[in-house]
Amino acid sequence: MTAETSRRGTPAGLPPARPATAIVVGGGWSGIAAAWYLRRRGVQVTVLDEQNSLGGRSSGEKLGDRNVTLGGKNIGTRYTEFRSFVQELGGGPFEHFGINSSRVEDGRLRTVDGQSRAAGIAGFLRRTPPRDVVRFWRMTRWVRGDDQDRFLGSPRFRQLSRAHGDPAIDGYFGRYLQNALVRPMTVRMNGAEPDELHLADFSANLGMLLDRFEQLTEGFEPVFGEFAATVSVQLGTRVEELLGDGSRTTGVRVRARSGSSETYLADLTVLAVPASASAALLRPCHPEVAAELDQIRYFPAAVVIAEYDRPVFDVAARAIFFPPGSEVSNAGAYGRDDRHIVRYTFSGRPARRNLVSASMEELRVRAESQLAPHFPAIAQARLRHQVSRRWQQAFCAYSRRHPDRLERIDKLLGGSGGLLVTGDYRRGTSIEACFRAAREQVVSVVDNPSGRRPAVT
Ligand SMILES: Cc1cc2nc3c(=O)[nH]c(=O)nc-3n(C[C@H](O)[C@H](O)[C@H](O)COP(=O)(O)OP(=O)(O)OC[C@H]3O[C@@H](n4cnc5c(N)ncnc54)[C@H](O)[C@@H]3O)c2cc1C
Repeated sequence: MTAETSRRGTPAGLPPARPATAIVVGGGWSGIAAAWYLRRRGVQVTVLDEQNSLGGRSSGEKLGDRNVTLGGKNIGTRYTEFRSFVQELGGGPFEHFGINSSRVEDGRLRTVDGQSRAAGIAGFLRRTPPRDVVRFWRMTRWVRGDDQDRFLGSPRFRQLSRAHGDPAIDGYFGRYLQNALVRPMTVRMNGAEPDELHLADFSANLGMLLDRFEQLTEGFEPVFGEFAATVSVQLGTRVEELLGDGSRTTGVRVRARSGSSETYLADLTVLAVPASASAALLRPCHPEVAAELDQIRYFPAAVVIAEYDRPVFDVAARAIFFPPGSEVSNAGAYGRDDRHIVRYTFSGRPARRNLVSASMEELRVRAESQLAPHFPAIAQARLRHQVSRRWQQAFCAYSRRHPDRLERIDKLLGGSGGLLVTGDYRRGTSIEACFRAAREQVVSVVDNPSGRRPAVT
């Protein structure tokens, strides 16, 4: 598609009932999903991304001669939308990854494994006060029983949260369960401490906890390649401005790779970027929506993937979650059979203050010394290769009364044509949640052109 994309077949001045052309801003999973759902409905799509590769927070990097993913890579067996996408593009196969993870308790490593997960969780719950066991068990029953309770916007979690005055998670569970099970989830999935994530939003975390994980054996690169063959993708293209007015968006103005300013016009513009990036673009035309999006929090994180000359983990314990106070939140084998490749994640409150000042080399060396008491092989291991990345906005942690906020955003945008906003803040931070959110948004405009947006509850 050229820079000037006309609205073909549209009578002058009248927006079409169904869009024929679309611009998707953002080539991460949310944008890829939106483009895929649009293309399946016969819409001609152009994806624009300021980076030089597709994938956003799941884009690849070379570690030696293999591709690795520094950001999101693990795929749940219940990721039905994502798996349909991969299947349609001929991608696969998947290999088991598991949720194998240990934490140090009373000087011992305690492991929750994908194979014996129920036993592992039951082990934690045996040491948990009865009130919290009942609360946790009730939530897991919801999440297992109803698909919508696995994602953000679950009506049951929303109701529960309201009944308790919308507390943060630390106000709902006692200290033991928080440290044993809840904090590892919030730090891993949101980069947030339990006092920074609200009860209404916890459904998305439990949806991931109660899934089983795999990864694509060959990584995401073949999928990105196949996807780019199905739609027009313009990389190195930063969207700087939305065109149109508050009542109708007609396209975008971009800064192209060459440095020139160009205009793309289309029937539909989809913003599939983190909330703050959407807010920046929406501020001139939709200041109230921008103000809502500004309230959505993201937390930073860094990931180092280090390849050593020998296995660091053993077969029984392939990952470890470090206790509160540690800047490295977790470290794990890159794959089930990659015990010589360690992926260190630095997230949560203790990591934040060091992410700016310390080099990635320093962070890794300090993490190795924390790993050594539990996995002594690291002390003898020699580093072969290292890749790393830090994101200022790694993980979304949503906002207080988040479902209400999403409803307000949809209501405010309800009267404006030619525009959709989606992202990891709508249904949750998982890749599957990005697909679900994008599908709901596309369905609301293309399959339901009368203009009714999907309700959050
Ligand atoms: C360390 C880490 C580990 C994770 N692990 C998992 C996991 O194992 N499983 C899982 O399901 N999820 C995981 N996640 C979450 C998952 O990776 C993310 O939720 C998902 O990738 C977000 O995709 P997105 O498209 O919404 O946003 P992004 O991936 O951030 O994509 C947004 C894109 O928009 C582009 N962009 C922004 N502004 C503009 C602009 N003005 N013009 C043009 N382009 C623009 C950016 O360059 C970017 O490519 C993890 C995340 C992190 C950070």
